[in-house]
Amino acid sequence: MRILLDEDQLKQGVEDLASRIDRDYGRSALTVVAVMTGSLVLFADLIRRLSMPQRVGVIQASSYRGGTQSGDLHVDSGMLIDVADRDVLLVDDIFDTGKTLDSLCGVMQEMGARSVRTAVLLHKQREHITSLRPDYVAFQIPDEFVVGYGLDYLDMYRNLPYLAVLEPEEIEATAAEAKS
Ligand code: 5GP
Ligand code: MG
Ligand code: MG
Repeated sequence: MRILLDEDQLKQGVEDLASRIDRDYGRSALTVVAVMTGSLVLFADLIRRLSMPQRVGVIQASSYRGGTQSGDLHVDSGMLIDVADRDVLLVDDIFDTGKTLDSLCGVMQEMGARSVRTAVLLHKQREHITSLRPDYVAFQIPDEFVVGYGLDYLDMYRNLPYLAVLEPEEIEATAAEAKS
């Protein structure tokens, strides 16, 4: 595993992200929605650094169907709180193709949100398939498959306190282990 961002760098990045969000929204109430499961760790750190009154909700989106390649997006809003007439901030771990946040912004709009913005820890430097760009980004990273700080491979590695690039042989070993 090759560490890309260590604990201190992540902490600083989340603090900067929170400052920018605080500056834009001021004291007005915000409905902050975690895109599960990848944003779990970022979300816990971020909401405790934001100063405005918050309503907190979750929505589930999954597209990496058991691998490192993006597949069909599946959205489950069964646990989501009411977002009608609210200012919503969607929080996700990483902006890759853009498909997840683009779709979820549409879902929020359909549910009557007053405004929708997006915040991500990571923005992959690659071609995106949507015109949407995240409003708040902590870090730009190269187009490599990363794990840790909430991001998984086959639901493992989310607990790592740092962000790391998984090497091809580790991808194979994890896949073999997950099957056994
Ligand atoms: P997008 O819809 O923008 O292509 O992808 C966003 C989702 O794909 C993220 O929420 C994340 O779950 C997953 N994803 C994209 N790139 C990576 C990566 O490098 N590592 C991991 N673990 N997940 C990723
Ligand atoms: Mg995700
Ligand atoms: Mg995943």
